[in-house]
Amino acid sequence: MTARILDGAKIRDQVFADLKSEIAVLAADGIRPGLAAVLVGDNPASQLYVKSKIAACEQLGLASWLHTPPASVSTAEMLKLVDGLNLDENVDGILIQLPLPAQVDTKRVLESVDPAKDVDGFHPVNLGRLVTGRPGLVACTPAGCMEILRRAAIPLEGANAVVLGRSDIVGKPMALLLMHANATVTICHSKTRNLPDVLRRADIIVAAIGKAGYAEADWIRPGATVIDVGTNKVTNAKEAERLLKNFPERLEKFRSKGYVNVGDVHPDAVNVAGALTPVPGGVGPMTITMLMSNTVKAARQRRGASSGQSLSRATRSTALAK
Ligand code: NAP
Repeated sequence: MTARILDGAKIRDQVFADLKSEIAVLAADGIRPGLAAVLVGDNPASQLYVKSKIAACEQLGLASWLHTPPASVSTAEMLKLVDGLNLDENVDGILIQLPLPAQVDTKRVLESVDPAKDVDGFHPVNLGRLVTGRPGLVACTPAGCMEILRRAAIPLEGANAVVLGRSDIVGKPMALLLMHANATVTICHSKTRNLPDVLRRADIIVAAIGKAGYAEADWIRPGATVIDVGTNKVTNAKEAERLLKNFPERLEKFRSKGYVNVGDVHPDAVNVAGALTPVPGGVGPMTITMLMSNTVKAARQRRGASSGQSLSRATRSTALAK
C-alpha cells in the first residue's frame, strides 16, 4: 500500500483562495485585516519565519507591520510595545516571534496580548475557550492539522486518534480539537508505556515529539492516517541511512546537501499508512496559512460584525469551522 499524500501546499492554496473571498467582503466594509509582528534581536531562524509570515500577508493583501526591538529589550519595554499594538485599531493580530531573549518574561509578554488579537492562540483565555469548546483563536499548527484532516475528508467521529506529544502549542490543543470533533483521543508522551501498541490501535496519528523517524512503520496500523508535525534536521550520515534506505533519491540529496528534514514518523510509513502528510510539504505550510486565517478571523470578529452577515453561505461554513 502507498499512502495518499496529504499535500500541505495544495491545501494552503485552497485556504488562501477562501481567505481572499473573505478579505474582499471585509474590504467592501472598509476593513483591511492587519498583522503586527514583533521580532526581537537577530536570530536567523526567527528572521526567516517572520519574513515568510509578512510575505504571506502581502500575498493576501493584508496589512503588516514589523517591530524589531534589540536583543537587549526588557520585559517592561516589550509590555509597552504590546500595549500600543493592543490599542491600535488597525492591528487585528499580534505575533510575538519566539523565542524571546532570556531576560524577557515570555509568559508575561504573551499574556499581555489582547486575547482578541492573539492570532497565535497562546493566551490562556483562548486556551480556556478551546477547552470549553467556545469560539476563539486556536494555535496555528494544530488548527492546520485539523484543516488538513477536514479538507482530506478523513472521518473523525468515533475514530481512535492518538496524539504523540503533549506540548502547549501542538499536542494539547490538537488533542482537544480532535476530541471536540468526536474522535476518541489518547495522548502519549515520554512516559507512555508500550507506545508501539498504543499507536497500532490508532485510526489517526498526530506525531509531534521532535525526534526524527521515531515512530516506526510497523507501529502504524495499515490504512491509518498519519499527520506528521515533526520537522527534524538530520545531519548524521548513519541516521540518514537508517531513515532513507528505501528512498535513494532523498539519500542522494542528503549526501550532496549534508542535511535532510525528516518528520517524527519513519519515512517507510508511506508504505503502510492510508494517508500521510509528507515532511517537508505537509503540516509545515499550514502553520503560516492558519496564522493568516486567524488574522482574518480576528478582524471579522473584532470589527466586522456586518461583514460576517454578508458572507456567502459557503465561505461562512468554512469560517465557522475554524
Ligand atoms: P516539545 O515542546 O519539545 O514537546 C515534545 C513532546 O513530545 C513532549 O510532550 C514530550 O513528552 C514528547 N516526547 C518526547 N520524546 C518522546 C518519546 N520518546 N516518546 C513519546 N513522547 C515523547 O515539542 P513541540 O513544540 O510540540 O514540537 C514537536 C515537533 O513538532 C518538533 O519537531 C517541532 O519542530 C515540530 N513543529 C513543527 C511545526 C510546523 O509548523 N510544522 C510547528 C510546531 C512544532 P514529555 O511531555 O513527557 O516531555
